[in-house]
Amino acid sequence: MEDMEYRFQRMSEIEKRIASSKDYRLVSREFKPEDTVIEIDGAEIGAERIAVAAGPCSVENEEQVMETARSIKRSGAVMLRGGAFKPRTSVYSFQGLGEDGLKILAKAREETGLPVVTETMSSDTVRLVAKYADVLQIGCRNIQNYPLLTEVGKSDKPAVLKRGFNTTLQEFLLSAEYIMAHGNPNVILCERGIRTFETMTRNTFDLSAVPILKKLSHLPVMADPSHATGKRDLIMPMSRAAIAAGTDSLIIEVHPTPERALSDGAQSLHLHEFEEMMEAVRPVARSIGREL
Ligand code: PEP
Ligand code: MN
Repeated sequence: MEDMEYRFQRMSEIEKRIASSKDYRLVSREFKPEDTVIEIDGAEIGAERIAVAAGPCSVENEEQVMETARSIKRSGAVMLRGGAFKPRTSVYSFQGLGEDGLKILAKAREETGLPVVTETMSSDTVRLVAKYADVLQIGCRNIQNYPLLTEVGKSDKPAVLKRGFNTTLQEFLLSAEYIMAHGNPNVILCERGIRTFETMTRNTFDLSAVPILKKLSHLPVMADPSHATGKRDLIMPMSRAAIAAGTDSLIIEVHPTPERALSDGAQSLHLHEFEEMMEAVRPVARSIGREL
């Protein structure tokens, strides 16, 4: 971060004015022209290889997470996702296992070596989640929770910041700026769909966000076709599309038995479907000079 401050000091007055005119500075390309590559214990986000995170929506039990982690690793995923604290629209829905869920994720990392990305829902649980997780996820409903952004900004763990379903890209970048301005330079911008009048999909996957964010910011971009579409059948084609649009990373929901999942089963791939999906998207990555 000192490096960031130093850079800003060094900019000419004109450069500073251009950077400041957008109200986001540290996240902007003007501020840092080269791509940011985030290194997470073996996984790299923003490098030539497209990094895929996969796993269940919710951590349900140890067996479910272990089976998923082993399988997605064999298929080529480089990170394990899974929610222990779940933001549910209905108070009667499964709310997650909390710290017990974090322990299960840590156990899966120990066995497979896959770094773990999991959500932190409030500023007072950031430290707890950071104790177990490698990457802190900020969910779409919390994109403008400024105390949470501030706390994650003070953490030494990288963050996946999910775009709100009702936030503009300008607001999205301003939220990322909060995290960076508080000292955390490792932010991954995740497009996960926005709310429109269309009802055939859970959200509308705003894929133009990918090249726009890449142009405006040096931060790595992640795409989440699971929450963007809500439909298992759409994950493979929309992952291809996200790769073609230039995403650095994908995050995909996978479950050993999606029909019995406690959350987001309809959009979760079976383990074998995830393997097939990885095979099916690879040629698209190669066609634009990337690996996966
Ligand atoms: C999730 O990743 O399971 C999740 C709740 O995502 P979002 O915040 O994008 O809805
Ligand atoms: Mn989910």
